Amino acid sequence: MLTRKTIRIFFTSLLLLPALCLHGWGFFAHQRINRLAVFCLPPEMLVLYKPHLEYLTVHATDPDKRRYMVAAEGPRHYIDIDGYDRPPYENIPRSWEQALAKYSNDSLQRGGILPWYLEKELALLTRAFRERDQYLILKVSAELGHYIADGHVPLHACSNHNGQFTGQHGIHGLWESRIPELLADASFDYWAGRAEYLTNPRAFFWRVVTESALAADTVLRLEKELSLSPDAPARYAFEPRNGRLVRSYSSPYTIAYNHLLGGMVERRMKQAIHAVASCWFTAWVNAGQPPLRELSHATLTIQDLLDFTNLQRQWLHGQMQGRTEE
Ligand SMILES: [Zn+2]
Repeated sequence: MLTRKTIRIFFTSLLLLPALCLHGWGFFAHQRINRLAVFCLPPEMLVLYKPHLEYLTVHATDPDKRRYMVAAEGPRHYIDIDGYDRPPYENIPRSWEQALAKYSNDSLQRGGILPWYLEKELALLTRAFRERDQYLILKVSAELGHYIADGHVPLHACSNHNGQFTGQHGIHGLWESRIPELLADASFDYWAGRAEYLTNPRAFFWRVVTESALAADTVLRLEKELSLSPDAPARYAFEPRNGRLVRSYSSPYTIAYNHLLGGMVERRMKQAIHAVASCWFTAWVNAGQPPLRELSHATLTIQDLLDFTNLQRQWLHGQMQGRTEE
């Protein structure tokens, strides 16, 4: 049974959420991607996903928050693929067991495990559908959406992930946060088409991260060229944010960079939306397409609420474990 105190803590943490989201870069695109993926689903899935649109949106960022709690969380969000192999990266074992045998767990945790972890999440979602556990279906859907979206970001598949080797510190946030926040709602075409069944999810996950890795050079090179161009707008500016002036990449510079990228951010965001929906759909099909109208575990238990409250608290007051992109 839920106590009044627990319910009060839970709702207080929810009320805090909008203010906090404005605080952190990177949450906007994740939330948009999960939200828009819902509209790519067939009607049999919409009966569950549409009424829980807010849950799937808000919890799209839980895996990033968990990085403040658990050291093992960080490597799930990236793969420094150039540390494992050279393009086209075909010598990296696709099976987790073979990768463990080749590199050791320590090296894998350092270099990032994103494509292998995606397989694990997909299996978890398939099991949640089989068990017809509503809370687990929604929780894992929201989190799988986060990881597959990360896989579409070039700098999540590259060891120079924040331009730290090339004097481009901050480029991670410029690409994945500043551009979407400034331009996506105003100018991106979000319609990604209907979810598709993934006949070979492993091959799909590796294709996604390989495409990202191959785009990383362009992401870095174009920003370097822009920063050195005498005609470029000022790189940084103080702009208002939540009632404060904050130093960040200036709007004209962000627009110029997005223009040079030739629609890459929009394209990857749209592909991420489609991939999220396709992963959800694939798990549901592989579980035997269970009807989603009446499921078990439809209301949150006290433990579910406490877990979420704890996550919020750690994110607010804790230190990020492992590497950051700040
Ligand atoms: Zn992430």
